[in-house]
Amino acid sequence: QAKSMGRGRFMFFDESMREELLANLSLEQDLRQAVNNQEFILHYQKISELIGSDTIGYEALLRWQHPTKGLMSPTSFLELAEETGLIIDIENWVVESVAKQIKLWDEQPEDKGSFVSINLSGKHILQTKPVQQLSKLIQQHFNEPERLIIEFNEKAFNEQSERSLKNLKILKKTGVKLALDDYGSGQSSLNYLNNYPFEFIKLEQNFVRSFSTNMKNWELAKSLAALGESFGFRLVAEGIESQAQLEKVIAAGCEYGQGFYISKPKAIEADEPDNDVNHCA
Ligand code: C2E
Ligand code: MG
Ligand code: MG
Ligand code: MG
Repeated sequence: QAKSMGRGRFMFFDESMREELLANLSLEQDLRQAVNNQEFILHYQKISELIGSDTIGYEALLRWQHPTKGLMSPTSFLELAEETGLIIDIENWVVESVAKQIKLWDEQPEDKGSFVSINLSGKHILQTKPVQQLSKLIQQHFNEPERLIIEFNEKAFNEQSERSLKNLKILKKTGVKLALDDYGSGQSSLNYLNNYPFEFIKLEQNFVRSFSTNMKNWELAKSLAALGESFGFRLVAEGIESQAQLEKVIAAGCEYGQGFYISKPKAIEADEPDNDVNHCA
């Protein structure tokens, strides 16, 4: 949008660029309204123990119930939410909403004890004030903050890593647990395993899927699992879609996993998984 376009030195508009700009402007207006009108919902996906298959928790995944476009995937509006700063309000809403959900579960004895994992934007962790606000929210709403896991993509620490790390420690002080998301997709720096307080490392789904054809990747995962023993983190394999993949990740030494083969993300009230998410804006 306007800001990112400003970076281009040679700009001229053709019809398709004009249309894209207009579409984005209108999506931005919609997104502002969505925050006010509470058009967001969360779908929850099970995270399971791979041996024994007990559910240990859920990942809360954001969806936007757009008034005309239907249910929208986070990938179709996250960038816009980050550019406009709306991400802060949205993620504060996620935290409050998850706190409510945990309280509801606790009224039903069979689900007691499970945690919920949320995703936090790299733009959010970069900003000290919002992080302090978020920490307050967590203190207010969670009796057991250790049942909230906050996931970050390693990209979140690529720029201004010092500030992000400082803010990460502010969050950590509330008692929440931290996870490194999508490991194996980007730089996958060993630095994050060593110097950051992550309790969980989540292996990215394409990395996980590569295990069947790429022995070296599988060996890498196996070494990570061994490393986790001494460093004190646990591995969660993402995107498990078949029995064969499940067996591969177990053989690599992953303790936990999630994926369509185990359970699809879905609304709490619904029995139907979300096959119907709209991936384009
Ligand atoms: P993620 O955190 O890595 O979440 C996993 C994504 O993989 C989810 O996509 C989930 O629906 C999908 N998934 C789970 N199991 C499988 C499987 O077996 N096969 C395949 N093909 N996909 C599977 P979703 O819900 O579209 O979310 C996409 C990304 O959006 C998330 O990736 C996360 O980075 C981001 N996201 C979601 N909610 C939030 C949020 O509240 N805040 C922020 N900042 N980001 C969020
Ligand atoms: Mg995640
Ligand atoms: Mg992930
Ligand atoms: Mg992802």
